[in-house]
Amino acid sequence: MGGRDATMVLLDENGIRCDGRKVDEPRRIMIKAGGLKNADGSAYIEFGDNKILVGVFGPRDVHPKHMSNTDTGILRVRYHMEPFSVGERKNPAPSRREIEISKVIKEALEPAVMLEKFPRTAVDVFIEVLQADGGTRCAALSAASVALADAGIPMRDMVAACAAGKVADTIVLDVNNEEDQAGQADMPIGYMPSLEKITLLQLDGVLTPEEYKKCVQVGVDGCKIVYDIQKKALQDKYFGNGAD
Ligand code: UDP
Repeated sequence: MGGRDATMVLLDENGIRCDGRKVDEPRRIMIKAGGLKNADGSAYIEFGDNKILVGVFGPRDVHPKHMSNTDTGILRVRYHMEPFSVGERKNPAPSRREIEISKVIKEALEPAVMLEKFPRTAVDVFIEVLQADGGTRCAALSAASVALADAGIPMRDMVAACAAGKVADTIVLDVNNEEDQAGQADMPIGYMPSLEKITLLQLDGVLTPEEYKKCVQVGVDGCKIVYDIQKKALQDKYFGNGAD
């Protein structure tokens, strides 16, 4: 996309990336649990320059009623980017990309949420991307897990998410926007660390079988870093000084 410096060095001779990080270093991550008083649960995440707010509602009645399931609860996810979240104004109407990401995040959360405990109801997850800088689906998924936990929804585990990728022929953790556009592969991963289960894995790009394995391992290690920050966000709200 426009404005990228064609002479930018993605990885220098010392193994330092275009934003000053090492290959296995994630961007700065900050998660805050709670914050929205009208939601049952909420979370705010800053993941590098990504800024995302998530509100969770439910379990609550399903309208229209025929959408409900008598055997289990249902999860509904809406991922939405604000028009001002990217350099070039985004049309506020849902794009194909937003519909796809909503579906991907819903399917990544479903194995974690004990929906069977709430038949006939829905849990709604609203994701608002305030600022985007590559990797919003992973940041949104991580924040959504914290918001669900904040809402008191029973879960088997939280889903932590982080991407790995291939940049300048090297497998790196947490691909940023520049690397996504100029790099060779981007692999967003969602992972339940306690259960050791992957719930999201996409791949944009081409990798050899060895690179693929390494990418999964690097991504999973990144998810474990995110997981610790998710747990700390909940601890800060419920046991620490961040209660609101
Ligand atoms: N992006 C943009 N305009 C759009 C959609 C995306 O500028 O309409 C940027 C945004 O910074 C986003 C990045 O492109 O984070 C990469 O988008 P992708 O579809 O790969 O999803 P993401 O990496 O955010 O999960």
